[in-house]
Amino acid sequence: MKERIHLSLAHLGNEELTYVNEAFETNWVAPLGPNVDSFEKELSNYINVNYATAVSSGTAAIHLGLQLLGVRKDDIVFCSSLTFVASANPILYQGAEPVFIDSDPITWNMSTRALEKAFEEAKKSGKLPKAVIVVNLYGQSADYDPILEICNLYNVPVLEDAAESLGATYKGRKSGTLGKLGVFSFNGNKIITTSGGGMLVSDDQEIIDRAKFLATQARENELHYQHNEVGYNYRLSNVLAGIGRGQLKVLEDRVSGRRAIYSKYYDELNEFAGIEFMPEASYGKHNRWLTTLTINSSFSIIDSSGLIKALHQENIEARPVWKPLHLQPLFKDNKYYTHEESVSEILFRDGLCLPSSTTMTLSQQERVIDAIKYALKGRY
Ligand SMILES: *Cc1c(COP(=O)(O)O)cnc(C)c1O
Repeated sequence: MKERIHLSLAHLGNEELTYVNEAFETNWVAPLGPNVDSFEKELSNYINVNYATAVSSGTAAIHLGLQLLGVRKDDIVFCSSLTFVASANPILYQGAEPVFIDSDPITWNMSTRALEKAFEEAKKSGKLPKAVIVVNLYGQSADYDPILEICNLYNVPVLEDAAESLGATYKGRKSGTLGKLGVFSFNGNKIITTSGGGMLVSDDQEIIDRAKFLATQARENELHYQHNEVGYNYRLSNVLAGIGRGQLKVLEDRVSGRRAIYSKYYDELNEFAGIEFMPEASYGKHNRWLTTLTINSSFSIIDSSGLIKALHQENIEARPVWKPLHLQPLFKDNKYYTHEESVSEILFRDGLCLPSSTTMTLSQQERVIDAIKYALKGRY
């Protein structure tokens, strides 16, 4: 069996251990501590936002974000449909109701046309959403100017799910800073990792202070343990924040590394009939967390699932594009607004993600490319 090539692996730098050792040497391995404070500051400086709170996962950050935006039982929250389930699970934790919004065919991110339809109907029904979760898919920012214009018109805040897009930009601004709140993930497969972790960011100090309070069991400032409301145990450990500090130092390298991987795939494969790579919108920089493409099987000899199977035979991990959440049994009763025809369903049917780890060697990537070419020529 040939050596396995994975979709997206962690890629450590040289300084993570220095910070982790510091935590050990000072016997500071508990949640919170100097690495956590520094990690929050360093990430805030990098994206140019005023406040941040490090938490145990991206999902926890979204959950806190929704709580802070006032999402409660029976409220409505709009959310991109083409995303990982973690974008929407916290809506259910709050007992609220997700309403899913289709993708735009050019950016693959939230369609403003679908969003507009959803708002118009919500207004007619007399119940506007409490928040809109906009996802930056596979490392590309959504188009925030028109999205924010609509949301501002209805006075509804945006939570930016930037779990996949750290290091990307939108019109010169760093991804994660466009909404009222931004969320990052440092799960093992993301562009940088703490093994597991997340961050909630905002320019609003009150929101971030409250996020820290809720994330530490909503413990009041008293000697005895005083609790007036429900809280969570969501803070990041000082050891893991040390990994994050080291990872932040190599973030720009990881972005350029992933972009180089994308460029090589593009140069080698774009000429094949029916192949179309996820476009990079002119408004910003894509971090190319995962290289993704669609195969139009009316022009190609093999379809997306055929190609995924062919790659698996070569011990190469490839996966379909996210299954849209409105198609998941979990959300079968939730509303969904389309762009025109349902773009997310076409992307799911025709799309796939290719191995994109920066740990992948050039010869490994060539193995992937050769296997794809072989399959596209109908040799399987
Ligand atoms: C990974 C991911 C999350 C969740 O992050 P975790 O740290 O794994 O909880 C949320 N949204 C999107 C779009 C993601 O890709």
